[in-house]
Amino acid sequence: MRTVKFYFIYAVMAIASIGAFSGCESGTGIGDLNLYSPSDDAQMGAQLDAEIRNLPNEYPIYNNAAATQYLQSIMNEILTSDHIKYRDVFTYKVTIIQSETINAFATPGGYVYFYTGMLKFLENEAMLASVMAHEIAHAERRHATKRMTKQMGLSVLLSVVLGNNPAQLTEIAANLFTGLEFLRNSREDEAESDEYSFKYLLTSKWYPGAGKLFFELIAKGGTTSAIEELLSTHPPDEKRIAAIEAMIQEYNVAPPTEANLFTQRYQQFKQTLN
Ligand SMILES: [Zn+2]
Repeated sequence: MRTVKFYFIYAVMAIASIGAFSGCESGTGIGDLNLYSPSDDAQMGAQLDAEIRNLPNEYPIYNNAAATQYLQSIMNEILTSDHIKYRDVFTYKVTIIQSETINAFATPGGYVYFYTGMLKFLENEAMLASVMAHEIAHAERRHATKRMTKQMGLSVLLSVVLGNNPAQLTEIAANLFTGLEFLRNSREDEAESDEYSFKYLLTSKWYPGAGKLFFELIAKGGTTSAIEELLSTHPPDEKRIAAIEAMIQEYNVAPPTEANLFTQRYQQFKQTLN
C-alpha cells in the first residue's frame, strides 16, 4: 500500500476540479464538503486501478474467473439497494489480489479489492457481503475525496480565491498524496461505512448484522501478522460492535440462520481458492 506514486494524477485532478466546486452534499457539516465531483471520483478510481494493475509484485492479481465472478455477483446484488446513488456514475468492479493479508479496500469510484487472505478468513457469505457493502459505502459516501477536500482545506481555497497560479496547486496536491495511504479511512468514515453496510444489506437476502459477526471473528482471530493491517485500518472496537447491535435492535432484525448466512455455500467456495 505504500509505493504507488501518482502525484501527477492528483495534481491534475485537483486543478480540474476547482471549477466544479460542488459544495455540501447533504448539508450535515464541513466533513461532507467535497471539492470533487462524482465523475472525478470515477476518473480517479480508474487511474488508481490502472496503477495497481501495473504493480504485480505488490498487487498480484488472482486470476480465478469463477471466484471473481462470484464476488462480482454479490457486489451487483448489493448495488440494487435504494441507498445506492452512484451505480451509473461509478465503475463498480471487484478485483481479487493473491495475498495472505486479511484485508479489503476500495478506491474512489467503486473499485473494490479483496485479498485471498480475507476470503479464506471469512466464514460465511453474509460476512463477505457485509465487508463488500462496507467497501461500497466508502465509495458511495465518497470518503476519500471528502478527506482530500478537508486536507487541501484553506490553502487551496485561498489559492482559488486569490487566483494563484496552477503550479502552486500542483505542488500542494503533490505534497498531500504519496501513495494509497490516502485511502486510510477515519474513524468517522468507518462508522458511516458500517452503518451503510447494514442499510444496504437490510433489503438483501443476507443477514444485515453480519458486520458484527465479522468483528467477533476478528476479535477471536488473534494478532497474527496477516491480520495486522486489518486491525490497523479496521479496528474492531466495541463502539462499532455496539453500533451494529443498536441497528439490529432498531430494525427488529431476527437472529441469523443458515438461510441468510449461507455458510455451506461459502465453505464450498473457499475450497476452490488456492
Ligand atoms: Zn472501512
